[in-house]
Amino acid sequence: MTEAQQTDRWIAHVDLDAFYASCEQRDNPEYRGRPVVVGALPGRRGVVAAASYEAREFGIRSAMPISDAYRRCPDAVYLRPDMRKYSQVSRQVFAVIKTITPVVEQASIDEAYLDISGLEKLLGPPAAIGQELKRRIHEATRLTASVGLGPNRLIAKLGSDYQKPDGLTVVRPDEVLDFLAPMPVTNLRGVGRRTSRHFDELGIRTVAELRAAAPGALEQKLGPRAAASFRRQADGIASDAVVPGRARKSISKERTFNEDVTDAIKLHDQLRELAAGVARIARRENLAGQVITLKIRFTGFETHTRQKKLPQATHDERVLLQTAWQLYTDSDLPRKAVRLIGVGISHWSDNSSQQADLFDSATEHANDDRLLDTIDNVTDRFGSGKLQLGVNRRQ
Ligand SMILES: [Mg+2]
Repeated sequence: MTEAQQTDRWIAHVDLDAFYASCEQRDNPEYRGRPVVVGALPGRRGVVAAASYEAREFGIRSAMPISDAYRRCPDAVYLRPDMRKYSQVSRQVFAVIKTITPVVEQASIDEAYLDISGLEKLLGPPAAIGQELKRRIHEATRLTASVGLGPNRLIAKLGSDYQKPDGLTVVRPDEVLDFLAPMPVTNLRGVGRRTSRHFDELGIRTVAELRAAAPGALEQKLGPRAAASFRRQADGIASDAVVPGRARKSISKERTFNEDVTDAIKLHDQLRELAAGVARIARRENLAGQVITLKIRFTGFETHTRQKKLPQATHDERVLLQTAWQLYTDSDLPRKAVRLIGVGISHWSDNSSQQADLFDSATEHANDDRLLDTIDNVTDRFGSGKLQLGVNRRQ
């Protein structure tokens, strides 16, 4: 083996297609070929947890308010999530994945990263390994998965999303730049509403345009750290570390202000945005946590954290916001100018049936802001037309 070969990394990202909805179609033949929406039931508040590809043709997407989904397709099959079933299938999927390599990192209930570097001699080239992975998953579960293979996590993840459903995308190191160039910048990691707006203002839509952005412009708009991160991603540079057994212990988001903040309303607004982001990730990963953490840094890097344990696990941003704000206002913290504020959630509940109910309760008192958030989030994640491409190819 030459030295170049030794350093070649191949990371695979596996993602089951419309996982919850596909489980239901598998177990209920009468749902096959029909739009299936898993989540809250119509007439109640709540969101779509998963939509079958038939439902997606009506524009129905994950995280969309169920009322929107119903308006788009009243004839769809609407089902409550059966988390017990999905967890069981998930365990089967992961058992199969581990027959390929033990170097597997679970990213969510239906997503994993694998380090398949050096497996070529055993299993053939990356494309063959990806194919074999899909075959074994289908054999064991009768479900389809999409697989992306590339030199790092970013490329593997974008690859698995590239030709869904039932897709296989291999991006060799020398193809990375061309693969990324036409992609919307919103496909990159860490692009939320704020960043997305900043990219809009800079007239940057694609990764190619991001690469060509004037030196300084990006840095000024996004701050040096974020700008550097996006420039690295645009060049296809990302981590290739796959850590087996790594499971999220917490989810948190924080924001450093360009200028220290004393205005309570501004702090509260920022906290609301952070809480919404944390809650969104928690819901996506089917996690509900019992401990809320507030992090505050004052001018001069004096940093404090305060925690509160709730009687019940949550992934509701209103609870997150309320608790974190209370931690700030009720605590012994000095009233000083704030440089950084952050909120986190941890100590997961393992009661999956309780979590299933949270698809409803999370939005019971949803306000317009939150709905907008949801819609923006959907646009961020699915607005690129890639899924449409997948549907067309399947026909
Ligand atoms: Mg999936």
